[in-house]
Amino acid sequence: MTEPTSRAAQLAANLAEVEERIARACAAAGRARDDVTLIVVTKTRPAEDVRLLAELGVREVAENRDQEAAPKAEACADLPLRWHFVGQLQTNKARSVAGYADVVHAVDRPRLVTALSQAAERRERELGCLVQVALDADSGSMGARGGVAPDLVPELAAAVAGAQRLRLDGVMMVAPLDGPYRGRPDAAFERLMEISTDLRAAHPAATMVSAGMSSDLEEAVRAGATHVRVGSAVLGERPLLR
Ligand SMILES: *Cc1c(COP(=O)(O)O)cnc(C)c1O
Repeated sequence: MTEPTSRAAQLAANLAEVEERIARACAAAGRARDDVTLIVVTKTRPAEDVRLLAELGVREVAENRDQEAAPKAEACADLPLRWHFVGQLQTNKARSVAGYADVVHAVDRPRLVTALSQAAERRERELGCLVQVALDADSGSMGARGGVAPDLVPELAAAVAGAQRLRLDGVMMVAPLDGPYRGRPDAAFERLMEISTDLRAAHPAATMVSAGMSSDLEEAVRAGATHVRVGSAVLGERPLLR
């Protein structure tokens, strides 16, 4: 009888596979491997998994619900991790998120900017912010799953850049499930890179491009993503809760 593979060995193997995919995508795009940072999305997974990942060298982790993330971040406070908040965020959760998050990826409305700024001020912390772009949103409006239409990016970016304790780090996108970019991740990520280029013209330090998940990280790296957010390819399929 063979021993069941330990969780640590399973995570190590998955992580090596994802690392290989990123390295191959970088090489194919003529990019340095250092240009792309892997963020492991640990949502729905216990703090023990986060601890194992930290032992395997992971330094960037992401969560999408404050109710789950806050206790997990507290349980892992001794680990050298940077926490990314990648979910849609309600203003009444800003105060909690500002206590542990280093970067908030889904900034998509002025009220959230104000709430995050006040929360960061209260916590005496600085928060990195990414403007979430929705390519399936009509001009001047928000997307069904958060994010703003490209024409709203400059004004939201200016709000972040002008807010106390917030740092405008760049843009974030989830490849659209609807609209003209549906099923065309390459085109969607290329459009995101154009938006990033325009943003950097006004805000040179806003260099982060958070794009690409388990199923489309190659397309994102090819287009120019600086950060990929990978969950299931490292941790296994999630229960069908969300
Ligand atoms: C869950 C999630 C991911 C990771 O998705 P996988 O398909 O599991 O890699 C990335 N980004 C966001 C915003 C997520 O909510």
